[in-house]
Amino acid sequence: MSEKIRIQDDLYQAVNGEWLKTAIIPDDRPTAGGFAELNEEVEKLLRKDFAAFASGEREAPLPELLEATKLYKKVLDIERRNKEGIEPLLPLLEKIQNVKDIADLNQKAKELAFENIDLPLNFGVEPDMKNTEVNSLILVGPSIILPDTTYYDEGNQTGQALLGVWSQMVSALLAKTPLSGEEQKQYLADALAFDKKVAQNVKSQLEWADYVANYNPMDLKEVAKKVAPFDIQGLLKEIWGEAAPSRVIVYDPKAINGFANYFNEETFPLFLHWTYVNTLLGASRWLSEELSSLSTLYRRTLMGIQKDPVLEKQAYQLIGSYYAEPVGVYYGRTYFGEEAKKDVVSLVKEIIEAYKTRMADNVFLKPETKEKAILKLSTIAIKMGYPDKVDPFYGELKVEENDSLYASLHKLSIQRIKHSLEKLTKPVDRGEWAMPGHMVNACYNPFANDITFPAAILQKPFYGLDQSRSRNLGGIGAVIGHEISHAFDNNGASFDEKGNLANWWTEEDYAAFKALTKGMIEEFDGISFYGGRVNGELIVSENIADNGGMGVTLGIMHQTEGADFAEYFENWARVWCIKAQPQYIQLLLTNDVHAPAELRANMQPRNFEEWYETFGVKETDGMYLAPEKRVRIW
Ligand SMILES: [Zn+2]
Repeated sequence: MSEKIRIQDDLYQAVNGEWLKTAIIPDDRPTAGGFAELNEEVEKLLRKDFAAFASGEREAPLPELLEATKLYKKVLDIERRNKEGIEPLLPLLEKIQNVKDIADLNQKAKELAFENIDLPLNFGVEPDMKNTEVNSLILVGPSIILPDTTYYDEGNQTGQALLGVWSQMVSALLAKTPLSGEEQKQYLADALAFDKKVAQNVKSQLEWADYVANYNPMDLKEVAKKVAPFDIQGLLKEIWGEAAPSRVIVYDPKAINGFANYFNEETFPLFLHWTYVNTLLGASRWLSEELSSLSTLYRRTLMGIQKDPVLEKQAYQLIGSYYAEPVGVYYGRTYFGEEAKKDVVSLVKEIIEAYKTRMADNVFLKPETKEKAILKLSTIAIKMGYPDKVDPFYGELKVEENDSLYASLHKLSIQRIKHSLEKLTKPVDRGEWAMPGHMVNACYNPFANDITFPAAILQKPFYGLDQSRSRNLGGIGAVIGHEISHAFDNNGASFDEKGNLANWWTEEDYAAFKALTKGMIEEFDGISFYGGRVNGELIVSENIADNGGMGVTLGIMHQTEGADFAEYFENWARVWCIKAQPQYIQLLLTNDVHAPAELRANMQPRNFEEWYETFGVKETDGMYLAPEKRVRIW
């Protein structure tokens, strides 16, 4: 611990200051410490294993991993990739150029969609929020270049600078295509012009943070009128035939209502060139070495990453995403013990029970609302570590020895698209995992009322079988409490115990809750952080979750024999330790629904009496908050 900084003034710096002074951010990452460090360790283990599978030193223990290993080797076969250059992508680029007009686009829309080529609308299959047993078709607008619509505001210099970098990257890539110099300029200008129009007609990140606002069921005929001349009805009929839905859920009504502003006869050429550029950009990463490194310039700039990871790392990251579940199952089976799994499951159950008690004692909810909350707690499904078996879909993902890397990925992506669209006519599979076992993260799914804790997060500093209970409660315990509380936050309050959109709160309950959340918004709003400002409203759900997680675990601490509250708070600060590139911090400030890690560490403790008691924090200390300003919700 740092001697100079008192814990009472700055918990985060007192615990992490020494490390932060000397820590170096790896040049292929935007951050170091905390989550990033665990990620690095997981990667190191798995990269070693995959290197052994690839060299034949060991045999991959799952059939899906044999296929993954083939893909892994193709990434490393840089000689072949360099020799082929842009060649493997040319047929697809030609296909785009051959789309003559909107009528022709409508004709070919299904084929293009399956080949992962952008259309003027995006669609997908998600559980129907009002009845999460069945799937529904959802519609959203196209994605945009900049991280948020607010970056397009006039006078936003970061946005302008980023578009400059993006243009530089795309020019360099277009120069590798068969297009003439004039055409290259035109394609770039058109792509930018189309993107600008789209950005004026889609939701911002803040708007996306409101889940309930995504639920806009519409008659397909009505949508079709709004998006004509793009033939959405014809496209869905082509894909599903008689089973095509007549009702869709419009997640982004802005895109549907503003569709004519960005897609029409006049903008069609812009659209087509935008699609060409997007396809080129998406594919280049896995073509030659040169194209690959050109294609990452924008992302690297956005996050402050100095250079691309070494090839072996790229290979591992690729299979970790295409074969996510088998890689996660392998990781869990190999590196995560049954004893630890049992231990954490029992901790989750203990925290759920503690929440039930707190809910029963709650003073702002009506008795009938409390009852429903307790029912919701009783039915939370727990997904711990990794799934028992691999989803059979992964068994279908075969890799042909002779295919180029690009061709393999293209085939796999077609399979993935088909698989996800086939779900429309099937019941929702509640056994599906939202995160693979090798991911350092955790989540609550409001549409299923379940929580997922991948094996990779169940290690120190978050959790250790041999780590003290106080530390575990300040680490993984608070995270578990955080995830569970999402069942009752401003989003979760709208979903019942089955994950269905159904308001189970009275108006009075909600008004009382809203008044409390206002305090949380105010606590964070406007804090200046590395030259930016915190948006209290954007991060309110996650802050309420942190507050709930801390409240419930501190409650358990009081019932724990030999509880060490100092250890609890110190480990809470330790898990949020991070050193990040300034660009990345700025990006998260506008885009992330979580508060910056340093503020997560330092803001919540001051809402709790235990913090003041443990360290004797006084009014003159940096981490003091007047009692009337302290916020406690759950
Ligand atoms: Zn959360």
